[in-house]
Amino acid sequence: MITVNCAPMFTIKNHLEIRNNHLVIGGVDATELAERYGTPLYVTNESRVVDNFSVYRKAFPDADIYYAAKANGSFAILRMLAREGAGADVFSYGELYMALLAGIPREKILFNGNSKTNFELQKAVDIGVKVSVDSRDELHTLSEIAQHREKTIEIAFRVNPDVSPNTHPKISTGLRTSKFGIPAGDVVNIYGEAKELPGISPAGIHCHIGSQILDTAPFKEMAEKMMDLVEKVTALGIELKFVDFGSGLGIPYKKDESAPTPYDHANAILPVFRERTEALGIAPKLIIEPGRYIVADTTILLTRVNTVKKAAKNFVGVDAGFNLLVRPTMYDSYHYAVVANKAASPSDDTYTIVGPICETGDIFAKDRELPHVEKGDLIALLDAGAYGFSMSSQYNGRPRCAEVLVKDGEADVIRSAEDFGDLLAKQKLPARLM
Ligand SMILES: *Cc1c(COP(=O)(O)O)cnc(C)c1O
Repeated sequence: MITVNCAPMFTIKNHLEIRNNHLVIGGVDATELAERYGTPLYVTNESRVVDNFSVYRKAFPDADIYYAAKANGSFAILRMLAREGAGADVFSYGELYMALLAGIPREKILFNGNSKTNFELQKAVDIGVKVSVDSRDELHTLSEIAQHREKTIEIAFRVNPDVSPNTHPKISTGLRTSKFGIPAGDVVNIYGEAKELPGISPAGIHCHIGSQILDTAPFKEMAEKMMDLVEKVTALGIELKFVDFGSGLGIPYKKDESAPTPYDHANAILPVFRERTEALGIAPKLIIEPGRYIVADTTILLTRVNTVKKAAKNFVGVDAGFNLLVRPTMYDSYHYAVVANKAASPSDDTYTIVGPICETGDIFAKDRELPHVEKGDLIALLDAGAYGFSMSSQYNGRPRCAEVLVKDGEADVIRSAEDFGDLLAKQKLPARLM
């Protein structure tokens, strides 16, 4: 156990603290974690995950909260959310397998995906999870599989409501031209078709308009469009058991950015949902699927400075690359950077933090005011818990790093670092190359 017994100086970014000029997470000094476990290192604060989940639960007291497992699929995180009563939104059989193993009940799982394999659909039917169907092709395949197994499967259709969430184009999912969902105009027809298909029970309706949404207006617009469809589907004589509005609530990655809270999210959609279901005299379960909000701010990525170079910019070369955190490269996203061993020191210059990967785009943070940075310093990239490790790769011959979970001053490894053998683990040579 690592303990820190000095009074906190001040707090940055909610649950993080600075003590003795060091960044502290979950009561543990980040510099001690880096020394003990090596770098790069993902560090997650367990209490923060549970707190974030409970905020969502309180904001939506009558809804089921299905955690979007793709945001961070670490088994320890799935396990702690299972214990809190979370359901799961899964996007592959791999995520389904992990969610079930973590103890999330099959009744609280929705199997999503725009291009599921037959194997995945068979698994969904055998296990008995709800499926969010994304196309007519999929509907018919699922019906055949269910009939063959003499089962009936509950489905929702993933609707493309054509709402612009005003976020990065790569994470907008509800635009008319997006690959996800059934166009709103085709929805009534496909429910009519599903109603007659053997093995299929149209039980719900589903959408998800995008991610890192910082404005509640698109949520309200989505809820209104979805409730219009609920009304039409109900008129077909289909009794919807659940209405799933997805999620996509953003978080403030920048220090001075403001983001709606889960309560704001609830205020945008609950009145619409309640008023419209009441008017229709129906009582479907509401499902919300937050991913990012639950995990993003719970986790930091610790990375050691290998080299500082004064060139066109002050380049700080660190030991983590975009193989571990691809968001800045892929989405131009911002992560707040702290020099963990000089966390409260005044800034002295502007630095650009770059990874070791052979790609120009391997940049974590551009032109940041930081305290004097030197070789050996420890950089913490904040808010790295969502779409961080879960999107990692071994690009450039780099084994993935370890993950540590901290709670009340204690730390546990929840994923060991890969070693160089892991680079070869599944590779084989044909005999002629031996
Ligand atoms: C990714 C995803 C979510 C979660 O999105 P966040 O932006 O992480 O909240 C929810 N539902 C579906 C269908 C998703 O694909």
